[in-house]
Amino acid sequence: MVGKEKLEPKFKKMLEDIENSLSEDTVLQEDLKDLLLDIQWDICGIKGYQKFNNGEYSFKFGGELDNPDITMEIDDDDTALKLLNGEIDSFEYRFYKRKAKIYYIEKWEKEKVGEEILKKKYFKLILTMRYTKGIFIHPYTITRLPIFRDIIDKWYDPKTADASYIPINDSLGTYEDKVLPLKVLEHFINKAEHLLITHGCGCRIYNQCQDHDHSIGCLYIGADTVDVKEVFPKKIPGSSHFGTKEEALERVKEAYDNGLITVIGRLKWDAEAMGVSDRGHFMTVCFCCPCCCIAGKRMYGTIELQNLMQRIEGVSVSVDEDLCIGCEDCMEVCVFEGMEMIDGKAKVNQEKCLGCGRCERVCQNKAISITIDDPKRLDEFIRRIEAKVDVS
Ligand code: SF4
Ligand code: SF4
Ligand code: SF4
Repeated sequence: MVGKEKLEPKFKKMLEDIENSLSEDTVLQEDLKDLLLDIQWDICGIKGYQKFNNGEYSFKFGGELDNPDITMEIDDDDTALKLLNGEIDSFEYRFYKRKAKIYYIEKWEKEKVGEEILKKKYFKLILTMRYTKGIFIHPYTITRLPIFRDIIDKWYDPKTADASYIPINDSLGTYEDKVLPLKVLEHFINKAEHLLITHGCGCRIYNQCQDHDHSIGCLYIGADTVDVKEVFPKKIPGSSHFGTKEEALERVKEAYDNGLITVIGRLKWDAEAMGVSDRGHFMTVCFCCPCCCIAGKRMYGTIELQNLMQRIEGVSVSVDEDLCIGCEDCMEVCVFEGMEMIDGKAKVNQEKCLGCGRCERVCQNKAISITIDDPKRLDEFIRRIEAKVDVS
């Protein structure tokens, strides 16, 4: 039992710290500059609020708001102390109609499955985030607050993370008779000895995706995939297997045919979520849909999280205004706010567009084109990823 006398000063400090550092912390300024959010806190009965108004910040320890956007409720004083002390190092969420729940991985426990000793992770609730006004706010939004930004930084490690979407569009043509993801993936697949193919996409299963195949799960490449000991994906028979190079390439083709966009890179949270220490020998290959994929939700989070994925150098996306009829289909599929409508015509926001190519595939008027200025860019891209993760 921690007691109010321990929690109160730490909670007060958390509220004050933002005010004290806002004038100097440029990362914080960026994270808060377009945040419009009123938060009511209730930490084991201790009240206080924060108001974020496009870069302006105010708070009141002990205060209660009449109509906050969200309330953050923590019931467990040990967990509250851990959070306020910065001792939590993972961030998972589940959301429901009127609330989201934020968890961390409390522990891993060994479990014997057949002849194998696997590991099962146990989550512990950090807090419940209620949508008091009934307006949905993505849980990643709160990672802009320093107390959660610190968790996210540990969880994905900005120093080692790097990933990109590989566009798959008709206007790009083919390279050596192959679509782009195959050309790039073939390099890594041929180099690797360990190819872990999963047969369930957690994001699509959790969201009950109606548009894309649930069975096309991530592909993990590299020597450290042998250390995957997490109960899922190993426990359920057939939920994952170490496959041949042909099977791995078949998975990439399957994803392409299903309209999924390939993302490759090194992401610490993917390794750690499988119970593997990220040492740079674990590559994630995700087959992403616009509706469910967690990678697309980064844009709600911190600036660093938003910048985690980079467009492949040399890839350009443009709209032919004469062909555009302003139907907005492209905007609907872009999960990065990369497409805008200006005077009834689509326009690419070059700062936000990640060159994933989804928009080109839905434009019935063929107004969008994706180009790559030089095929050598693919070799550069491969080298960029190899500088972060070694799959051999
Ligand atoms: S990361 Fe991609 S492939 Fe993996 S579970 Fe999420 S959407 Fe599915
Ligand atoms: S989908 Fe094509 S036609 Fe429709 S707004 Fe976008 S670019 Fe224009
Ligand atoms: S505008 Fe959006 S959908 Fe189109 S390529 Fe860029 S990021 Fe992808």
